[in-house]
Amino acid sequence: MVMRAAVYPGSFDPVTNGHLDVIERALKIFDKIIVAVGDNPGKKPLFSTQERIEMLKESTKGMKNVEVDSFLGLLLDYVKKKNSKVIIRGLRAVSDFDFEFQRALLNRVADGDIETVFIMTKENYVYLNSSIVKEIAMFHGRVNGLVPKIVEEKLREKFGE
Ligand code: ADP
Repeated sequence: MVMRAAVYPGSFDPVTNGHLDVIERALKIFDKIIVAVGDNPGKKPLFSTQERIEMLKESTKGMKNVEVDSFLGLLLDYVKKKNSKVIIRGLRAVSDFDFEFQRALLNRVADGDIETVFIMTKENYVYLNSSIVKEIAMFHGRVNGLVPKIVEEKLREKFGE
């Protein structure tokens, strides 16, 4: 049997319930999801790559067939290295579309064998992203229901009660 693995790349700074929803939906379509934390030195993340990986591992430990990893450099090279042909991206609103469309087409021009698959999130998470979560946490607002427990704790460690 051929295992169909898909790579779900992102910053995951930090992982939110929106990301987890996308992973769960993707697991219904593919045999394995490789969640790949982009180790982009140009971005200034709040959490280190290691911290982001740990939070992802903790919050997906109840799910079968999820691997958490990080990658440096070109996503297409990483996808090939993992013997996959599929990139998963989440779509929230039309606002995501332009950027995602551009990226997916660019990747297709670079390698016609690799497909990008878009997964729509649950309605509750349409307005959820990592930046909003960080902003709320910075001002000590409530992030419960938006992120997994481990992320709530990590945010409290960063910003205090
Ligand atoms: P990136 O910097 O690569 O956009 P993110 O961690 O912000 O990394 O997002 C990773 C992927 O998850 C993107 O495809 C993004 O659209 C998607 N995503 C983020 N938040 C949500 C959400 N609430 N619902 C659905 N998809 C989401």
